[in-house]
Amino acid sequence: MGDIVEEFKKAETIVIKVGTSTITHNNGTINFYVVEKLVRVLSDLKNENKNVVLVTSGAIGVGCSRMRLNKKPDSLPEKQALAAIGQVNLMHVYSKLLNEYGQIASQVLLTKDVIEDEQRKINAVNTFNTLFRYGSIPIVNENDTVATEEIEFGDNDTLSAIVAVLINADLLILLSDIDGLYDKNPKHYPDAKLIPVVRGITNEIEKISQNTDNSFGTGGMITKLAAARICNSHGIPMVIANGDNPYNICRIIDGEPVGTVFVPNGEED
Ligand code: ADP
Repeated sequence: MGDIVEEFKKAETIVIKVGTSTITHNNGTINFYVVEKLVRVLSDLKNENKNVVLVTSGAIGVGCSRMRLNKKPDSLPEKQALAAIGQVNLMHVYSKLLNEYGQIASQVLLTKDVIEDEQRKINAVNTFNTLFRYGSIPIVNENDTVATEEIEFGDNDTLSAIVAVLINADLLILLSDIDGLYDKNPKHYPDAKLIPVVRGITNEIEKISQNTDNSFGTGGMITKLAAARICNSHGIPMVIANGDNPYNICRIIDGEPVGTVFVPNGEED
C-alpha cells in the first residue's frame, strides 16, 4: 500500500464527504465537537494551498431536530421542507466556524441534471474552479429541497464521487461512523475484520456490503462502494475512514494507513 498512500501527500485537490452519523448526534442535533475539528482540518488544508471541497450530509436530520421531530417523516414535501430548514442551519454553522479560521465558505447545491447536460456540467466545473481561485471552500450537498427521483443523485456518497470526477480530484475521503469497510457489518458481528486495502470492486466486496441501520443516515456500504466504483473508473483513490476523529484526514494525507483505501485500477501497492 506504500506507494499509493505516499501519493496522498501530493494531493492538491481533495474532496471530503461527511455522513449524517458523523456530524450529527442520533437525535439529529449538530455534533459541534466533530464539526469544529473538521473545520479546523479543512482550514489547515486550505492554508497549505490545497483545493478542498466538503460534501456534507445531515440537512434533513438537522431540520428534524430543529422541528423537534424524532423521526424522519415519510412524505416528500415534508422531507424537502426539513432539508430547507436543516441546510441553512448547517451552512450557518460551517460558515461561522470557517470564518473564525479566516476561510470563505460557499454553498453548491447540485441535482443530477446538472451533470447530465454538457453545458451545465461545464458551468459547474467553471464555478468550482472560480471558487478555488477565490480561495473558497465549496460546501456541497444535493439540492434536496427541489430534487425529485428523476433528478436526484440519491445519496451523498455517489454525489461526492461525481464531484471528485468533475473537479479532477486527487483523492476522495468518505468520513463515516465506522473505521472503514469490514468483511461483514461490525455493528452486527463483533468479529468483523477491517479490510485495509481494496483493489477493484470484486463480487466478494459487493457481497459484504449491507444496508445501514441508522435512522437518519442513508446508504451504508452499498453507496460507498458505488462511489468507489466511480472513483475507480476515473483513476481517483478513495478512502473510507472514521469521522469521529477528523484528524484522520491529516493522517491519511500524511501517508499513514488509515481506514480502507480503494486503490484505482492500474495502481500498484
Ligand atoms: P454515513 O452516514 O457516514 O454515510 P452510513 O450509516 O450510511 O454512514 O454507513 C455506515 C454504516 O454502514 C456503518 O455504521 C455500518 O453499520 C454499516 N455497514 C454495513 N455493512 C458494513 C461493512 N461491511 N463494513 C462497515 N460498515 C458496514
